[in-house]
Amino acid sequence: CGIVGYVGSNKTVDVLMGGLGRLEYRGYDSAGIAVIDDFGVLNTAKKAGKLAALTNELKAHPINNGTTGIGHTRWATHGGPTDGNAHPHLGDNNKLALIHNGIIENFAVLREELLAEGFTFLSETDTEVAAVLLGREYQRVGDLGEAFRAIVARLDGAFTLLAVHQDQPGVVVGARRNSPLVIGLGDGENFLGSDVAAFVEYTRRAVAIGQDQIVTITADAVTVTDFDGHPVETEEFDIAWDA
Ligand code: GLU
Repeated sequence: CGIVGYVGSNKTVDVLMGGLGRLEYRGYDSAGIAVIDDFGVLNTAKKAGKLAALTNELKAHPINNGTTGIGHTRWATHGGPTDGNAHPHLGDNNKLALIHNGIIENFAVLREELLAEGFTFLSETDTEVAAVLLGREYQRVGDLGEAFRAIVARLDGAFTLLAVHQDQPGVVVGARRNSPLVIGLGDGENFLGSDVAAFVEYTRRAVAIGQDQIVTITADAVTVTDFDGHPVETEEFDIAWDA
């Protein structure tokens, strides 16, 4: 039920865990993160239960820090609240990680299509279908933004989706339809969040993303397009917040 994304030189694991902590008020039953570490490898950690369970998991099995990552708290709709159903879900031979808030209404049809092509699934979620679909598209086009533009046309329902790919370190891409997503603008770092609470600790400069739009963030740049790839004008606002 909460989403955070980060690219920058701060310790990404800490930024993501802090952001998820600030999003706890939204309610959730599981949590997880994916980080492209400083060696260029995608690592994930996920756990059913409170954020404390994920914190303990990270203590028991630390993952390397890095400069690119995504974090998620889940409110289960498809598949029970288990470790395996927690996000992130993986695609493209575990090189891509994706998180999702919302519901993909037509996931069953897409799942059948992918199963018929020989893809396999590790969870009962609607979300994993989007991860596998995005991975398949990434293999074709080699770019997360482009892959997203190709798959969103096939997804019905409500979604905020964020993804990272090991072959594109320093990049987080997000897409939204009927579900919220906000950009946080930093100095040499940028953020994404389901609401500003995800990054208010680090910046008060934000940009709202409109309906049916795709955003790409790097440490120094933010690009927003519509689902067809046309650039979109964005407007910055100041976060008023008594922390
Ligand atoms: N439908 C997805 C799931 O059940 C995402 C739920 C959410 O919004 O956290 O995993």
